[in-house]
Amino acid sequence: LSRRTADFTDSVIRRMTRISNRYGAVNLSQGFPDFDPPKALLDRLAQVAYEDFHQYSITCGAPGFRQALAEKQSRFMGRTIDPEREIVATCGSTEAMMAAMMTVVDPGDKVIVFSPFYENYGADAILSGAEPIYVPLVPPEFRFDPEVLEDAFRQGVKALILCNPSNPCGKVFTRQELELIADLARKYDAYVITDEVYEHIVYAPHRHVYFATLPGMWERTISCSSLSKTYSITGWRLGYTIAPEEITERIKKVHDFLTVGAAAPLQEAVIPGLRFGQDYYDGLQATYTRKRDLFLRGLDDLKLAHTDPQGAYYVLLDISEFGYDSDLAFCEDLAREVGVGAVPGSSFFREPVNHLIRLHFAKKEDTLLQALNRLGDLR
Ligand code: GLN
Repeated sequence: LSRRTADFTDSVIRRMTRISNRYGAVNLSQGFPDFDPPKALLDRLAQVAYEDFHQYSITCGAPGFRQALAEKQSRFMGRTIDPEREIVATCGSTEAMMAAMMTVVDPGDKVIVFSPFYENYGADAILSGAEPIYVPLVPPEFRFDPEVLEDAFRQGVKALILCNPSNPCGKVFTRQELELIADLARKYDAYVITDEVYEHIVYAPHRHVYFATLPGMWERTISCSSLSKTYSITGWRLGYTIAPEEITERIKKVHDFLTVGAAAPLQEAVIPGLRFGQDYYDGLQATYTRKRDLFLRGLDDLKLAHTDPQGAYYVLLDISEFGYDSDLAFCEDLAREVGVGAVPGSSFFREPVNHLIRLHFAKKEDTLLQALNRLGDLR
């Protein structure tokens, strides 16, 4: 069997879902909602079953889907996105990131990854033959040291991976930080591959800035994102890349041979969501702000030390006081004995970290209260 498939483990995030299910735990490990997608999507999904969407769509995405997505993203990014030349519909942002990596790097090329990072980037790097150079985001603010970042660029990197808003640390990069990254990308002639799946889950006063919209960055950015979190449809596996025509042409080839295309009926059924007005996005932000406040207040009441997310829906909890050597062992005990599923922090950090676990709060308020109630057993 290939060396490259020996060089990474299965996803610990997805493993924790299996463990949570085994013990009947409230699963706050793998980030996905337990509430329904917007009704307009479900209604359309029911209709689509009886319409003519059961065969392959055009490989790079059904025309109606790309058109609606281009209109939405043009509005949010403040730039006209061409649905024919600048978009590829993918099977989740997971495929978008993999296709972007394979489009940009040759075996042996170096890529910068901020640590902590969403675990897929490690496997993406190995599968595409890239060598990751990790740059720490230093707690509690999760800032990076510009000198350390420039040292990494100096090693001759092909691309930087930017998860913003960031999973798992909840950081929303400031415009100033992004401009610093942009200056270095320009100076060292590197691409930037973004993962912006939490673009609409940002807590005031923080604001999401699309990296591709910074001066001079359109040409060197592949923006990857997904509809999973925005419309609570993680199982639909709908994502996309947005990039200049020349890069998109290459992504289309990779995507075509990897998957042919995202599911045609689901691309059709999500279109009403892509046409939602600003109210929907304001509502989403208000909903997640309430969930965040409820969950963090509950953790505070239990005197459990945690991070303060600026975006996305994850919180890192400090478990030092429980005296475990292994965060994985802690998470297994937590699922089995307390009945709450969490992800060991070590699966996100390059640095040796074993005193953090990640919980997510994309759940109904009742589910969150139940989880908090169970976490009370730690006291
Ligand atoms: N992004 C989610 C998480 O970090 C899950 C994504 C996935 O499992 N594909 O938990």
